[in-house]
Amino acid sequence: MLTTLIYRSQTDEPWTSAALTDLVDAACLKNIELGVTGILLFNGRVFFQVLEGKENILDLLFNQIRSDFRHHAVVELMRDYTAARRFPDTGMRLFDLRSQDICTVTDEVFGPTGGAREGLPRDDRVFRFMADFITEGCRYLLPPEFRSTCWKMEGREHSFPGPAPVFRQETPCRFALQPIVDPLAGEVVSYEALIRSPSGGSPDALFASLPAERHYHFDLISKVWALARAYGPEMETRTLAVNLLPGSLYTVTGAVRYLRRLLRRYNLRPEQLIIEVTESEIITCFDDFFRVLKQLREVGIGLAIDDFGAGYSGLSLLTKFQPDRIKIDMTLVRDIHLSGAKQAIVMSVIQCCTDLKITIVAEGVETLEEWCWLQSAGIRLFQGFLFSRPQMGSTGIMHWPVRLLNRPGNPGD
Ligand code: C2E
Ligand code: MN
Ligand code: MN
Repeated sequence: MLTTLIYRSQTDEPWTSAALTDLVDAACLKNIELGVTGILLFNGRVFFQVLEGKENILDLLFNQIRSDFRHHAVVELMRDYTAARRFPDTGMRLFDLRSQDICTVTDEVFGPTGGAREGLPRDDRVFRFMADFITEGCRYLLPPEFRSTCWKMEGREHSFPGPAPVFRQETPCRFALQPIVDPLAGEVVSYEALIRSPSGGSPDALFASLPAERHYHFDLISKVWALARAYGPEMETRTLAVNLLPGSLYTVTGAVRYLRRLLRRYNLRPEQLIIEVTESEIITCFDDFFRVLKQLREVGIGLAIDDFGAGYSGLSLLTKFQPDRIKIDMTLVRDIHLSGAKQAIVMSVIQCCTDLKITIVAEGVETLEEWCWLQSAGIRLFQGFLFSRPQMGSTGIMHWPVRLLNRPGNPGD
């Protein structure tokens, strides 16, 4: 099966035409040997390459390309399968957009002399990727100040709310707190309370230990321990996010009144509480959910859609109502710096939330590379192991990005 792979990458090197020719000559020989066809476009800052060949061979080659220190920010834009090559099997062809004008290149690539396989439709995705690059360059380029080699994470002591309160009898659950941070401001803006069994077990394990008919009720009343856990001066300027199943709000009578009482007891303003509901849960029971949503709004409690983009309703959910916050699911966050598809989807979520004045949180951020890309794309708030794991105690170490001065990009970025 023939595979087509398109990537782009950025470079700081001057790349004289002689240096480029050397690069292409070497690549050409290698490609012929491997049975790979390559079309390389270069505009002075960005390489754009189409590769066609057997998938396992392309994977090996692409791994080598990724680790080449002469470029960085290598992003896979497209991977697809095809019956026949689009371009003749001549190893590698270069188009240097600095010395060739757009018309010539377009003619050479797409015209009869370009040698592209006859009969290929002009709306072929590969051609459209190429045409866009030739006429417009690339979107979502990483600005130099957000190259991950310009940053490091630094640990600092942080005092979490608490210590956990003492109740008369042993509580049936506990809560860990995970900060939601604005890294460039160096601020914790919010804590998310994550439920644990008394012995520290996961939410799934805790709910599995309860009879199904008690889930909603338990979920709701457990929030007394979340609010108690977060009680303290650290909360004055921050918000507290709690997770709830929508059913815990609409099947339990007086659920919103109960939350309001808890807020008063623990001295929180209603807008300091943010209820996180996952996208998948909302769409299965939208009408019931909408009724309690109105009650929450009346009281002034905030609302976030959790795990947004995890593969359920997508953006269309936002036509029904708009929450205060959207938390981008960690499957979209994971390795976003490497994936053109994830970048395009997250950019469209950012655009949509900007227009609708919805705050975005990127969750599950684990690496500096992911944070650099997301921060440079305009996201301000983050949650993830990179900054802090969920904490049971009242003190812990938090990690903050620190810019390294006078440090150009390093090999391997
Ligand atoms: P969630 O609300 O999306 O919470 C984030 C989960 O991702 C947490 O798992 C957290 O520990 C984990 N996480 C945070 N940062 C990272 C990271 O950088 N990498 C990775 N791999 N994971 C990260 P946890 O605590 O196991 O919670 C799992 C889910 O259980 C939560 O997902 C939430 O949907 C649910 N949950 C938690 N507390 C409650 C609750 O009180 N009621 C209900 N109904 N569900 C809850
Ligand atoms: Mn959550
Ligand atoms: Mn989530």
